[in-house]
Amino acid sequence: MDIVLKGGTVVTARDSYGADVGIQDGRVAEIGQDLQGRETLDASGKYVLPGAVDPHTHLELEFMDTVSCDDFYTGTVAAAFGGTTTIIDYAEQTKGGTLRQAVETWRSRADSKVAIDYGLHVSITDAREDVLAEMEEMISAGISSFKCYLAYPERLRDDELLRVFSRAKEIGGLVNVHCENGWLVDYMTARLLEEGKTEPRWHPRSRPAAFEAEATQRAVTLASIADAPLHIVHLTCVGALDAARRARDADQPVLVETCPQYLLLDVDRYDEPGFNGAKYVISPPLREAENLEALWRGIAAGDVDSIGTDHCPFNLVGQKDVGRNDFTRIPNGMPGIETRVPLLYHEGVNKGRFSLNRFVELVASNPARIFGLYPQKGTVAVGSDADLVIWDPSKEKPLTVENLHMNVDYSPYEGITVSGYPELVLARGRIIVRDDEFLGQRGGGRFLERKQFSRY
Ligand SMILES: [Zn+2]
Repeated sequence: MDIVLKGGTVVTARDSYGADVGIQDGRVAEIGQDLQGRETLDASGKYVLPGAVDPHTHLELEFMDTVSCDDFYTGTVAAAFGGTTTIIDYAEQTKGGTLRQAVETWRSRADSKVAIDYGLHVSITDAREDVLAEMEEMISAGISSFKCYLAYPERLRDDELLRVFSRAKEIGGLVNVHCENGWLVDYMTARLLEEGKTEPRWHPRSRPAAFEAEATQRAVTLASIADAPLHIVHLTCVGALDAARRARDADQPVLVETCPQYLLLDVDRYDEPGFNGAKYVISPPLREAENLEALWRGIAAGDVDSIGTDHCPFNLVGQKDVGRNDFTRIPNGMPGIETRVPLLYHEGVNKGRFSLNRFVELVASNPARIFGLYPQKGTVAVGSDADLVIWDPSKEKPLTVENLHMNVDYSPYEGITVSGYPELVLARGRIIVRDDEFLGQRGGGRFLERKQFSRY
């Protein structure tokens, strides 16, 4: 063996057991007792977890007249510090452009910078006939999932979304949908501005939970008409969860993602003094407290499949502050790529909300399965990529901006200290993080061709 991780507890979505993990040529070659290797890494008293998979990121995204401030290097380095070794970013089609152009643009930004492996979804913002035809070519290129918006100027009409679902059904694609009713958001926003309500605290009032619940039900209905699978991204509220649950109870293939910010931060954050509420201007917005508890219950009950980040950071100074006098100009998005896994461990496992195995399933195995990367990614098994984390369950870390590596000027989680953090992170058998040191390479990650969606 090239490397042996010795004496740890291996944790997968299925079970936990004491074993050594042997790595050869970047893959897990053997799991067993008393393995020998040229290099030995001590994992005693620690967990050996699969590197986590973040299925929802927006690195160097041009959005609302600016660009998200983590690029494919800084963002993937930060991800690695937090135990994430694979991301799936969203390539965005421009109006009038093709899906191929979107993917070429994203690969030209990412390939030379990524420190970890990555895949791409592609967003369909202009559902022309030739674009629907092009979807099949995307699947052949390993981009097996699409995204459609029901909000933002990029949104599709219902008939367009139905056509995307029908096409996805034909060719074996999975459609991710951003579920908020954009027409109602525009109407409500205009009303608030007319009334002179321009501070960040009006952002959540411009897009209430009911707008998301309605759009979620509509996406579920359209997917059902097309008999196509649906992946709901960043679900935040009771009404949307109920719509998804009803469909799942009827055996409709509806998958649900939520994000740590919707589990841990509530709508009161927008009332922080001064302009600080802008830190949390994201869409969908943070919700009233009862939704947070419902999401935790949904996770425990199996109604939520995966946890992504929707990582899309903008600096408070120089980016968010263009909206100081108008919340509609604040770029929507917040950081999270580095903190997802420790937050889920701390708030989920340490607080007894779910098991260690369920934790691994939510942050690694399920995102890998849903997006066609399993078992290459998302588990610890012979033949899988040696993307591994030695996890120290007793390591404490305050999630302050100084302690984190994301290229953004604030942490949404100031004041929270987590217990449980990566000690060592390996990507395809190479150590890329040791405690507070990055040992990987710019451009050391690879583009991943993903398989087609299949129910699991
Ligand atoms: Zn997003």
